Amino acid sequence: MQHAKCTSDGKVWEALPFSQLEPSRLDSKRLSLLCAECGEFAWFRKESRHGHPAHFCARHDSECNLKVEYVTSDDQRDDATSEEEQVSAGDTIIVRLDQEQGGEVEVKDVLAPPKEGQGEGGRTFIIKGKNRESSQQFTLRRILHRLVQSPAFRSSNSNIVFYKNSEDVMLSGQVSDIVCGFEDIVKNKHDDKTMFYWGPIASAKKSPDGKVWLNSGGQYRSVSVAIFEDIAKEFLSLFDVDELEDLAGAYVLVAGRCHFTGNGEGKPVIWCGTSKYIFVRKYKAKNLQV
Ligand SMILES: [Zn+2]
Repeated sequence: MQHAKCTSDGKVWEALPFSQLEPSRLDSKRLSLLCAECGEFAWFRKESRHGHPAHFCARHDSECNLKVEYVTSDDQRDDATSEEEQVSAGDTIIVRLDQEQGGEVEVKDVLAPPKEGQGEGGRTFIIKGKNRESSQQFTLRRILHRLVQSPAFRSSNSNIVFYKNSEDVMLSGQVSDIVCGFEDIVKNKHDDKTMFYWGPIASAKKSPDGKVWLNSGGQYRSVSVAIFEDIAKEFLSLFDVDELEDLAGAYVLVAGRCHFTGNGEGKPVIWCGTSKYIFVRKYKAKNLQV
């Protein structure tokens, strides 16, 4: 789309003049964009190498007049259940974890309610007998999908067990306790805490030391995800990212330690040291409005 509102200056910008802003102003303003009509998260995409002109995109409200039709680009490869396909109608996953390489990212979503005394405080949750069949295996892709689509899932008390490998539990508990949206990160609860965090990416950059930084906007507490240099290349290749610009507008789900910068006074940064613990996905408009 051609226009987006920037909350840092209150202006509605057109894509071309926005693209001509001095780089540091552009980098800062692109973290504060909303759809001028519905007020939902919007992002800016620089002119691509393939010749797409600079433009804005947004995750519009369902009623928004600027909403365009979305299609999935990898239907055939999508292993989602039919229920998920319904909620996913409209989303295009253009970056995804390869199922084989990302095998260890698979998680188990235990749908049966825990018996009293089990499944609390990060203890290993053991399911016996009949209930075993009601556990469902999910991938990070499916978890992120549900988080984005379903507010009820975000605050649910469904149990999730994240396994590091076939035996060891990395994290387990209720969704609402071990998975946190960027906008809900607070210092006294999350500083120094390892859990799953998720939110939208407004821009991505590489620092001179080789780390990849995924930055969210002001309405998401300006959370950044820092991907260590030793896995940066693997991360970009797993998700088939040619240009860091391609990550603008994607959602990320990442397990890592949250650390507030500046002795706790600054913003939250999630540190990611393994490519198995991160998943990114993105929407792509069928008829991209430029
Ligand atoms: Zn909108």
